[in-house]
Amino acid sequence: MSTRLIIDNTAIATVDDERKEYTTGHIVVQDGVITAVGPGQAPTFSDDVPTERVNGDGCLATPGLVNTHHHLYQWVTRGMAYDHSLFQWLTALYPVWGRLTAEWVSTAVRGGLGWLALTGCTSSADHHYVFPHGRTDDITEAWISAARSTGLRFHATRGSMDRGESLGGLPPDHLVETLDDALAATERTIDRYHDPSFGSMLKVDVAPCSPFSVSSELLEESAELARRKEVRLHTHLCESLDEEEFCQTTHGCNPVEYMESVGWVGDDVWYAHAVHLSDEAVKLIGSTRTGVAHCPSSNARLGTGMADTPRLREAGVPVGLGVDGAASQESNMLVEELRQAVYTARQVGGPTAMTCRQALELATIGGARVLGRYDEIGSLQVGKMGDIALWRLDGLGHADILDPVAALVLGPPAPLKLLTVGGDPVVADGRLLTADEAELAREARRVHLTIMNGGRS
Ligand code: ZN
Repeated sequence: MSTRLIIDNTAIATVDDERKEYTTGHIVVQDGVITAVGPGQAPTFSDDVPTERVNGDGCLATPGLVNTHHHLYQWVTRGMAYDHSLFQWLTALYPVWGRLTAEWVSTAVRGGLGWLALTGCTSSADHHYVFPHGRTDDITEAWISAARSTGLRFHATRGSMDRGESLGGLPPDHLVETLDDALAATERTIDRYHDPSFGSMLKVDVAPCSPFSVSSELLEESAELARRKEVRLHTHLCESLDEEEFCQTTHGCNPVEYMESVGWVGDDVWYAHAVHLSDEAVKLIGSTRTGVAHCPSSNARLGTGMADTPRLREAGVPVGLGVDGAASQESNMLVEELRQAVYTARQVGGPTAMTCRQALELATIGGARVLGRYDEIGSLQVGKMGDIALWRLDGLGHADILDPVAALVLGPPAPLKLLTVGGDPVVADGRLLTADEAELAREARRVHLTIMNGGRS
């Protein structure tokens, strides 16, 4: 049955190619797709299509935010090793993650995605690379069905590791797969779950974890698999200086040169972090349109340095924002990353390094580009999916900031009057509609305590 949503009487930042903004305007979504955006009142309809009308007085409508990097399973291991470096943090947490179960994944994905929705996210990638021996299919099933239950658009980036401790890697051996097992399980996940259609709610991407934890063969064969299946490639790259040293010592080149040598540059590839890059590396990823998930809060929490996003954008690199895993960034509020993106860009490049509107672009159309979904999401335009965040800016935290984009980006995290994915409401009046928030919190605490108790409840 046909349905229609009209959001009226609201400020709008479309983030389209002309960056159109309206002080007072309307958006119409019909059957999941935006059919009108413009100034003034919405047109009147005389047909009998059931219509929901939302008064956006005091609000700003933006495209739903796009999260390009996450590790949702970490949602229930927050608040650990919080004064540690990246390597110390990984070494402390891998033994904990080694106890991962399907129930843990289900709880963490529902909690983590519920929280993201409450902070304006309508599409999220999730890089999952921990598959303890014997639990691969159970964990995959729990991961996908939990994500589906939340109503968000989801990119299941199927991770893998094949360099455990005995081969000089960081993860314990029982957490890594063999090359053949990792490739077979990744292909199985694509065949079973990947939906390539326009407006897809679930895509699968291929995502070996990082150069430290993955062999060159796994990277090469993953690239071959992804291209054969026409899905995207994702991994961590250039997050810390240790990685630069590792690549120079092991492969005799910098990380980006290494990735190029194994087929990992191109407009179907995106890296998380990209903090430590030479000028040549920036040029290479820019000229090949390789994307970057910028994760400013996580980089700050782990003290790994900060990506120079203005330099990346100038070079033509598609850049989106990511909250990164919740164990390295406990706040995990996607809307907060806009302010972090502005602050950190200015810290790195001076006061003109990034505007508030450019930060909004990173979080919306930039993320859509990074996920290869520029035609579907990331801006409020006729023909795109009805993924909309309607932010309340009339409360104490924002009301006196007259520029709504500045209020959203620089003010405190704004409450949501409405969040829709394909026109379907996921959050209304600050309340999650697809799950009981209190139950998600209780379950997260219970699972966390079970993990801390060595798996015994
Ligand atoms: Zn990460």
